Amino acid sequence: MAYSYDDQNIFAKILRGEIPNDTVLETEHSLAFRDIRPQAPLHILVIPKGAYVTFDHFAQNASDAEIADYVRTVGKVCEMEGVEADGWRLISNAGENAVQEVPHLHVHILGGRALGRMLE
Ligand code: 5GP
Repeated sequence: MAYSYDDQNIFAKILRGEIPNDTVLETEHSLAFRDIRPQAPLHILVIPKGAYVTFDHFAQNASDAEIADYVRTVGKVCEMEGVEADGWRLISNAGENAVQEVPHLHVHILGGRALGRMLE
């Protein structure tokens, strides 16, 4: 699928410094910050700095360096926040069926409470 990226989306504005954010970790290619409407005690969003709409868009177009940086940033955030022992969840919504609100790739890191079973 050919994705077109809207550079007026809220995360693009965060990356340009036009909107403040509660940064947890910034790397060469990625930014991790706290969700403005947390659904769990720990709710952090991790985004690539590049203009990617969804996970598949990113996976098909990003460089190996961007992909490695992104995956390692997720791991580093989990380590920093200390969620490995109790468990945590990673979610990425893509497109209409998943009700993606912001059209810039993000993964949600959720933790800090029992999250329940998501899939039956
Ligand atoms: P989606 O539904 O696209 O997977 O999730 C988008 C997430 O972005 C939501 O959890 C929402 O609370 C969060 N969000 C929307 N606008 C902002 C914002 O301006 N700042 C931060 N930190 N999070 C936001």
